[in-house]
Amino acid sequence: MGLADAVAQAMKEWAMERGATHFTHWFQPLTGATAEKHDAFLSLCDGKAIERFSGSMLIQAEPDASSFPSGGMRSTFEARGYTAWDPTSPAFLVFDEVGCTLTIPSVFVSYTGDVLDKKTPLLRSMRELSRAAVRVLGLMGRRARRVTPTLGPEQEYFLIRRDLYVRRPDLEVAGRTVLGSAPPKGQQLEDNYFGAIDARALEYMAALEREAWKLGIPLKTRHNEVAPHQYECAPIFQALNISCDQNQMLMDLMRRLAKERGLAVLLHEKPFAGVNGSGKHNNWSMQDETGRNLLDPGRSPEENVEFLFFLGAVLRGVHRRAALLRAGIAHAGNDHRLGANEAPPAIISAFLGDRLTLILDTLLEGRTVAAVAEEVIQTGVEVLPAVRKDNSDRNRTSPFAFTGNKFEFRAVGSSQSSATPMTYLNLAVAEALDEMAEQLDARLRAGEDRTQAILSVVKEAYADAKPVVFNGDNYSEAWAQEAARRGLPNERVTPGALKALIEDDTKALFERYGVLKPHELDARYRIELEKFNRMLDIEAVQMLRMVKTGALPAAWRQQTLLADAILKCEAAGLECAAQREELAIYTGLIQDAIRFVDEVRQALAGAPDEHACAEKARHQVAVLRPAMGRLRGACDTLERRTDEALWPFPSYHQLLFQ
Ligand code: ADP
Ligand code: MG
Repeated sequence: MGLADAVAQAMKEWAMERGATHFTHWFQPLTGATAEKHDAFLSLCDGKAIERFSGSMLIQAEPDASSFPSGGMRSTFEARGYTAWDPTSPAFLVFDEVGCTLTIPSVFVSYTGDVLDKKTPLLRSMRELSRAAVRVLGLMGRRARRVTPTLGPEQEYFLIRRDLYVRRPDLEVAGRTVLGSAPPKGQQLEDNYFGAIDARALEYMAALEREAWKLGIPLKTRHNEVAPHQYECAPIFQALNISCDQNQMLMDLMRRLAKERGLAVLLHEKPFAGVNGSGKHNNWSMQDETGRNLLDPGRSPEENVEFLFFLGAVLRGVHRRAALLRAGIAHAGNDHRLGANEAPPAIISAFLGDRLTLILDTLLEGRTVAAVAEEVIQTGVEVLPAVRKDNSDRNRTSPFAFTGNKFEFRAVGSSQSSATPMTYLNLAVAEALDEMAEQLDARLRAGEDRTQAILSVVKEAYADAKPVVFNGDNYSEAWAQEAARRGLPNERVTPGALKALIEDDTKALFERYGVLKPHELDARYRIELEKFNRMLDIEAVQMLRMVKTGALPAAWRQQTLLADAILKCEAAGLECAAQREELAIYTGLIQDAIRFVDEVRQALAGAPDEHACAEKARHQVAVLRPAMGRLRGACDTLERRTDEALWPFPSYHQLLFQ
């Protein structure tokens, strides 16, 4: 029996003892969700039922790949796709009413070897980051075998009543409300953040924690978020790939547990216009195999200097690859959130805090490197650890903030898989580390003192990357202008942001590091654009349906009520000029709405063909979205002027306060 067979045998026994009847390769296609196809352990052998799970079944499976997006890499007649066991992520058991399933984390590739999932590039980027960081540590005189990026994703979400949710088809179909007038009291009063958690949410959170731990997901933190019925949970950080897998599992679990409790969880970035949106703050760092955090300033002078090197590499990577990082968080949902004045803007910048910025500036403005080295080293024990204190005053407006011993990538959307943005971040930092390693190597060969050489390289990296550092208010208009002066990219909408994926420079990077081939990036670009186009179509169609079958009929009734009231007043000889004026305004709004319905319909009908996805995306942004905005404006005004009892959809007030 081969090793794989032995492992498979042990896994099967372990799973079956706990009631498993089926197994599945669980993978992450480019839809952004997860996929699984269950097979029973039960098999037939000479007409007799036996339980069978061999090494080859563990290692590889062949789900039909034709209905997963491939971005044109695979024609439907060659639909074969293969899943392969990812032994770096633990298998787990998923229990349901009837039994349980042995779930095997897997990668997903096509017959020709093209990458069809989010996990394969993630694992490759981790390999590259590790290689580059190990080399750097070696040059610093520290032997490390492996460096692993770590991730602790803070997950924000809304939790609302299910009976209200099912009466909002927009929430059900598109994940966000396409109609709805914002309540007078949203989060404006800011009394919700970290407030007492209500009993309903608390019971849900407790169940979520219980079930999550059963799956091996170490959920640790829970609290209220800024908006009513908005919450956050966070696990203890782990190796990046495991944490990504577990966040995908967690989102599924969140939906299921909410449903079981007559609740609905909203993971969309912006379920409610005008109300705080949701992110997934990706806390990211790197550690060696002993668990030492490379972004921890450390306690000794040597550690301080090393820390500065890795910090410099992150800044350099984020600066150089800002457009790529922006592409990694680009999707229809996040467009509503980024730059909406309650989330970071579309400009990628890094927050360091005053203390660290001062240290790096001192290095840059160079009094001699030796002098700075002395300062850093002499005060090292006190100075760098004090970075933590400095960061207690967090900059909540930054998309990428240093928080004492890790970076927090806050611009990631709440619904999205962390795998893609983390792949891009790993790669950006790996590239910077490689470049800096070259420079360090050259200096050391030339016989420079090690500390001095390290600080010189940090200085050069910081000199290049300094424009990406911004400690001020990211929400301000002044920053947008300043960022433009600094030459930082500011792509406000998804289609523009995605272009970074198909730049020659990006393709060269991915190819050099063996993460994705150029045509695989082309495919990803297409897939993301198509997803964007489709999501906007879905929202628009849903909006039209709700307006025509719900909002307008309610408005006719309100209009009739008003007209009847006027007739009756007149018959009674009463003054009713004010009502007449109201009726005129109301009727005008109805006419607006009808006109805008037509505009949205035309915008849908007039869109370029789906295959021309870039042109279609331009149309969606320039024509469809503004038309939807106008229709929404008219309908939301109607809602505010209509008898509550007549309005067919639960209001923002009901959704957010009941
Ligand atoms: P906050 O004050 O932002 O909530 P926490 O310390 O609670 O900060 O951390 C938030 C998340 O960051 C948690 O998931 C935590 O496990 C994670 N985290 C802490 N240290 C690291 C690290 N070195 N690498 C990655 N994630 C980390
Ligand atoms: Mg945090």
